Amino acid sequence: MSNATDKLEELGIQLDSQLPYDVDRMFPKLQGWGVKGAIKQKHKVLQKVEPLLKRMVLRDEKILYVAKGIQVKFSEQYFLGIWANLINQTVFVLTNLRLIMLHVDGSGNPHNMYWVIYYSQITTFKGSWTGQVKLKLEDGLKLVFSGFKGDDRKQMPTIFQECVEVYRQQGFNPQVTQSRENLCPNCLAVVPKGQYQCGECGQNFYTPSSLAGRSLIFPSWGDFMMGHTVLACVELLGYVASWFFLVAFAMAGFREGGIEGLVATCIFLFFIAIEHVIDSALTFFIAKKGLTPKGKPAQVAATEAPVLTGDASNPYNPPPV
Ligand SMILES: [Zn+2]
Repeated sequence: MSNATDKLEELGIQLDSQLPYDVDRMFPKLQGWGVKGAIKQKHKVLQKVEPLLKRMVLRDEKILYVAKGIQVKFSEQYFLGIWANLINQTVFVLTNLRLIMLHVDGSGNPHNMYWVIYYSQITTFKGSWTGQVKLKLEDGLKLVFSGFKGDDRKQMPTIFQECVEVYRQQGFNPQVTQSRENLCPNCLAVVPKGQYQCGECGQNFYTPSSLAGRSLIFPSWGDFMMGHTVLACVELLGYVASWFFLVAFAMAGFREGGIEGLVATCIFLFFIAIEHVIDSALTFFIAKKGLTPKGKPAQVAATEAPVLTGDASNPYNPPPV
């Protein structure tokens, strides 16, 4: 038995025995101040994603490290600012075959958008001492991973870089339709780039433009549909507040009489229109990140399958050649 296994036992922590964890890598620090809390914290993160991981893990796949952080597109940092952190909470799962990313809510519960990146898709890897990782992918997508806490700040980039290097040498390069593949939130199969229906289970998804169209009609609508409730509420409040402000402004114009009323109304309409357009663009941008399910799937996927049935050399559901 390894030291990490002993330590987990001592703390009364039981990891899911069906999952192929590399416990020594997952829990490298076993002594010292704050270690107990850190291990318990990690266990909490794991517990919420274990049921999903059990359905994802392939034969011969090993889970090397799991950490919770934030995943943003490079451009998004500036575009969304602090909101990017709120809506991009992600659990990162480094395995010996790939990086699995699960979008989670503030409490760590998985939330519809899941992705896979094979190490062969990573062209540039840059880690920093703050735990931030910057990636450039084969298809040009630039991602920034950040927000790691405690030891994860050091461990996550280190183990990630090891994986990237090992896989560069081994040349494991599965075929993909885009560098960061979207997974169906229902059956966990890959949904190829540009497709909005799962070929495995029939689950339909909203296209980014249909969500953006909703936000164009009524700001915040699209974001509510994607489940970004906090962001959507803020948008809604801002929108309602601007109506109060602009209606008051237009009324004041009318009280002046003559041309002022007309000018005030035009300004009012102009600003409201701008708000609709900006919100619609924002929704489109966010929706592009992954898949938003629409209604129920055609057939309900079995909740337990497939457990460890995959083949490492032939990842499940490869895109048609
Ligand atoms: Zn599916």
